Amino acid sequence: MPITYKQVREIPVRYNTEVLVVGGGLTGVCAAVAAAEMGEEVILVERNGRCGGNFTSSLVSTFCAYHVIEDGEDKPVSGGLAERIFTHLQNKDSVGQFIYHSSAPVVPVDGPVLIRFLDEMLMNAGVKVLFHQTASDVVMENNRVKAVLFTEKGGEYAIQCKTVIDCTGDGDVASMTGIPVLTDNPVTQFPSLVFHIGGVDFEKASKLKKPDLEKLQKQVVESGEFDLPRTDGTLSLMPRQGIVQANLGLIKIGSRPISALNSEDMSYGQIEGRRQAFMYLDFVRKHIPGYENAFICKFPITVGIRETRRMRGSYILTKDDFLAARKFNDGIACSSWPIELHREKDLVWVHLPPGEYLEVPFRCLVPEDVENLLFAGRCLSADQNAHAAVRCGPTCMSMGEAAGIGAATLSKNAGKAAKDLDGSAIRKIMRERGAHFPKDV
Ligand SMILES: Cc1cc2nc3c(=O)[nH]c(=O)nc-3n(C[C@H](O)[C@H](O)[C@H](O)COP(=O)(O)OP(=O)(O)OC[C@H]3O[C@@H](n4cnc5c(N)ncnc54)[C@H](O)[C@@H]3O)c2cc1C
Repeated sequence: MPITYKQVREIPVRYNTEVLVVGGGLTGVCAAVAAAEMGEEVILVERNGRCGGNFTSSLVSTFCAYHVIEDGEDKPVSGGLAERIFTHLQNKDSVGQFIYHSSAPVVPVDGPVLIRFLDEMLMNAGVKVLFHQTASDVVMENNRVKAVLFTEKGGEYAIQCKTVIDCTGDGDVASMTGIPVLTDNPVTQFPSLVFHIGGVDFEKASKLKKPDLEKLQKQVVESGEFDLPRTDGTLSLMPRQGIVQANLGLIKIGSRPISALNSEDMSYGQIEGRRQAFMYLDFVRKHIPGYENAFICKFPITVGIRETRRMRGSYILTKDDFLAARKFNDGIACSSWPIELHREKDLVWVHLPPGEYLEVPFRCLVPEDVENLLFAGRCLSADQNAHAAVRCGPTCMSMGEAAGIGAATLSKNAGKAAKDLDGSAIRKIMRERGAHFPKDV
């Protein structure tokens, strides 16, 4: 029999800030840096002890959607902070060989160098960073977020802010304000626990192409030798010799994906993901040349979550927009990646024509009803198919940068509502800060 408790508590306000960014994934870092570079006082709060989110805490480690391939050449479609990060990684010899199996190259990047650079960017921009805090509630006043509550080991406290940006990937803060979650497909994409393998002979391993890997996985499943939960995953050679990123498994309970919103599901996912990792290790050691002496050298802090809540914004990006490779006069992020939809039994790919890309309009980051809230990154306003294309790291960085600019603009204009922001003006500022929009509208 479930019981409920009601409590009235006094919660201390520990900080006051102009812009509060919750979630320190790639989106959150870019949001915080952009807002600070626009002259605002910014606090960024992250529940783990590092920034980078899926890229670092879940070992994703490969940038997709940063380039398009046009006339056989890789051309960047991002720019701005995404380019600042990419260039730094290149200068530090921390970008691996590009991998070509899609309409845009996959770019392996070194995690520790990325984490350190995200720290540096935040410090240089003057952002106050608070790790090991989880947003647990909001205090609303009319249609505005007055404060966000956080939980740490010492208890609960509040941060008051003029504007808040939800970069939690899961849409935690936005959903606490009561704005709607999109439900066009209530079954989210299936998650995977990504891990890193060491001791790989790159010379031999680099000969294996993606279709051959898929064929091998199917063969061992059909013969009954290994009960692999998925046969279309990837092995990506990382920038450091001998290290490979393995994105191979799929986590489900029965026929449903685990939910990032449920700690029992997530606990199961961590354990199940590690079980799968050792099964895949046995498979690669036995069947793939170059992996004979391989071992698991890194487990992620957490299972990689592809999709949680998609929040409803002033515009919902759709599959039709993707198919038309649509551009918008308030477009603030470019994505050259296909629809990559992870379902229970298959992985759906829908490609754009070579050299094409889709834009994400600023309105996808703006709620209708809460005046001082923006959301960006993995929790943007998009239907599931469009989301499956624009959730890549570089696209999230641009969304974060745009949200940071938007939040800074709001903080400077007391009383203005997020939905009244001029997205085309944000696009203009993005361009002045170095963003590319190669095919202008
Ligand atoms: C298995 C997998 C493979 C992928 N492969 C690729 C790929 O090859 N290339 C590519 O470009 N993209 C890939 N992606 C997509 C990409 O990694 C993500 O969509 C993108 O990184 C999302 O960034 P984000 O900052 O919006 O969210 P996240 O990376 O999810 O970051 C959110 C951050 O918020 C923090 N947070 C969450 N809730 C709270 C809270 N309540 N309080 C405080 N902090 C909170 C989290 O700890 C996290 O650091 C993959 C994703 C997965 C899961």
